[in-house]
Amino acid sequence: MSLIASWIDTANSSETAFPLNNLPYGVFSVGGAARCGVAIGDLILDVSGLEEAGILQPGPRPGVFSAPSWNGFMRLGPTVWSGFRAGLTEFLREGCARRAEVEPYLFPMAEARLHMPFRIAEYTDFYASRQHATNVGTMFRGPENALPPNWLHIPIAYNGRASSVVVSGTEIRRPWGQVKAPDKPLPRFRPSGRFDIELEIGAIVGQPSTGPVSVTRADGMIFGYVLLNDWSARDIQAWEYQPLGPFQAKATATSISPWIVTKAALEPFRIPSPERERDLLPYLHEPGPMLYDISLTVSIQPELAALPTVIARTNYREIYYSFPQQLAHHTTAGAPMNIGDLLGSGTISGPAKSERGSLLELGWGGKEPLRLDTGESRSFIEDGDTLTLSGTAEGVGHRIGFGECVGKVIPALEPDQLPY
Ligand code: CA
Repeated sequence: MSLIASWIDTANSSETAFPLNNLPYGVFSVGGAARCGVAIGDLILDVSGLEEAGILQPGPRPGVFSAPSWNGFMRLGPTVWSGFRAGLTEFLREGCARRAEVEPYLFPMAEARLHMPFRIAEYTDFYASRQHATNVGTMFRGPENALPPNWLHIPIAYNGRASSVVVSGTEIRRPWGQVKAPDKPLPRFRPSGRFDIELEIGAIVGQPSTGPVSVTRADGMIFGYVLLNDWSARDIQAWEYQPLGPFQAKATATSISPWIVTKAALEPFRIPSPERERDLLPYLHEPGPMLYDISLTVSIQPELAALPTVIARTNYREIYYSFPQQLAHHTTAGAPMNIGDLLGSGTISGPAKSERGSLLELGWGGKEPLRLDTGESRSFIEDGDTLTLSGTAEGVGHRIGFGECVGKVIPALEPDQLPY
């Protein structure tokens, strides 16, 4: 699909993340109350203001955009989602006769504060990149036992904490936790010395379910996608993870990018899942392509460095189980899904060393430290480092960008700040 030209010049640049083809949804404030907005070029369209002024006719539902989340809009369902998107596209299209009415509701993105774009109901994080699972398994259990025996049959996940999900830009405090060095007899309680990122995509559930759903139905329930960084304390994880999986290692924070890229915007970028080594059970069969071609990068910028160093480049296509498969599997035992549920794809790693989506893999557990452009080396995150994820689907003469998911790591609490 080629670029849809807009009367907003910056939306027509081949470099912008937010051409008219994208129209991602966020929550913003410029001094006053936070409300719903849509990114277009280097501007934000205040859809709450448009609705109050009666310009959106018919609006989806009075007041739905004045809330500081898109949950109310999600509730209205896919027919309303696509009608609203089509209407916005006409308002912003080159030659629109109503330009003068819409223009007062545009704000420079650079002057806006971006907030969490939706209220998170619950959060589940999968483990669906084969290369990531193989790499981590090799480091934790050896190459013979790298991939768990269930991995080629089930999309594996753990239930995370919705309360720990934060918007891009939020500072991340290094956690304390219980760790045990392999050569020591007893564990210690200390700040994590192996604090890490995980490069992921997040999917947002926009429609509820009350029983098992098919892969096709699950695809229809998904509203959109964000970048997701699942901050992970590897030393805490290595000690606590057997037999019930990650717990405090993943409870510090999960950052998400502020713009929800809709499923509609990504339709032209659908691609099939990789070849299956083992046949999947019928309930996991996909009726069509359900992954997306999304290029992803990770960069790290030490506190005093002038520029970031890109440390990984990979693609969402490295994922083995698509979000509709993950969501369908998640409903098999009866748990209802709710509007605002967030699914993490799992760390996305490709086969090449430069395609690994965590420092654990990039630096091979500290054995092969990364060299940064500044000359410094890194095995894990140091205090003051800023980690940035970015993602882009490349169209013809335009790109569907996710923007960035940024987090700076700040020092752990001092011992005298702890309650024990
Ligand atoms: Ca993860």
